[in-house]
Amino acid sequence: MDTRKQTTGADGTHAEAVRRAVGRRLLPWFEANRRVLPWRKEPREAYAVWVSEIMLQQTRVDTVVPYFARFMDRFPSPAALAAAPLQDVLKVWEGLGYYARARQMKAAAERIVAEHGGRLPGSAEALAALPGFGAYTVAAVGSFAFGLPLAVLDGNVMRVLSRIFACPDDVSAPAVRERFRERAGELLLRGRPAACNEAWMELGALVCLPRSPRCGECPMQDVCRARREGRAEAYPVKRRKMNIPHKIVGAAVILNRRNQIMIAQRRPEGGMLAGLWEFPGGKIQEGETMPQCIARELKEEMGLTLEVGPELTVVHHAYSHFTIALHAHFARIVAGRPRHLECAGHAWVKLEEMEGYPFSKADLMIIEALRAVKGGVRFGAVFPGA
Ligand code: SF4
Repeated sequence: MDTRKQTTGADGTHAEAVRRAVGRRLLPWFEANRRVLPWRKEPREAYAVWVSEIMLQQTRVDTVVPYFARFMDRFPSPAALAAAPLQDVLKVWEGLGYYARARQMKAAAERIVAEHGGRLPGSAEALAALPGFGAYTVAAVGSFAFGLPLAVLDGNVMRVLSRIFACPDDVSAPAVRERFRERAGELLLRGRPAACNEAWMELGALVCLPRSPRCGECPMQDVCRARREGRAEAYPVKRRKMNIPHKIVGAAVILNRRNQIMIAQRRPEGGMLAGLWEFPGGKIQEGETMPQCIARELKEEMGLTLEVGPELTVVHHAYSHFTIALHAHFARIVAGRPRHLECAGHAWVKLEEMEGYPFSKADLMIIEALRAVKGGVRFGAVFPGA
């Protein structure tokens, strides 16, 4: 059985026609239509390529542009990134999400300084040995910065190729993705890996859109099987997504009489938001009211007995694998001193001082709600009888 045909929908003649169209139509189209982006300055600098590619994973270009500028300004080299405290790196990353990326970049920068003299190494093997360098990042940095003949396979490229080859198989299957990576590698033109990779990515971002692809403007329309079938949107084929779990979470905005607010730092091993600061709390349990949930969580996490007061806000936020409704309540300590039973530390800060700490997006939304409180956040107004 021809496994190629099975996994990408390609046959030799068609694949050869696609390859010819890359040189004749896709690359000229890319030269004429490529977006001017801050990380595309020639000659390509490996560090800037790396920073931009990590930021662009899971994040839109428009969102990344200002983050990239701030990051490069604050950490202009691997050495600067390696020397910076993790808190500073997380602060610059604040709001971009997927914070593991920032932690891994810092760890990789430390290795680049220690083992490669502060410069990103130029071989696929050495890049792959760095923290956070999966197949995508190795191929992107390797081809864009060092001209290595490695195919970059992101969501955009998968979508375009699955349509051009009318691939009937589930593209979320690892074996199918691997076959596409090989296929994309076969479509790289000799001496032009960076241009080929970026052209496919740009085509996916600007023309071969997930919904309503602009086939009439597409330089690859003559060789696109999905277009010929008249059902471009049927590809890529994906198995149905599982239901995303929804979590209901409580958070305490603990005030003291000096109108300071207590924030807690997550432990270094504290999952995807490790190292960030938060309004402490946790998931509601069956049969609990929200004030009971917050009181229990603070007892477990910090050994505190709280009076839980009025609700400040409810924040709705979507992460990659779950959504949350975060109920923030004001609270005051009635017994105990903060202990770090399930957190790395705590701080009492004024609202205006919170700027100095890195928070996740959901906690930033609580801070916004605090800033919107009429007359300012005052202990006496929230707990008048205390
Ligand atoms: S012809 Fe349409 S479906 Fe095919 S690659 Fe171009 S935009 Fe995508």
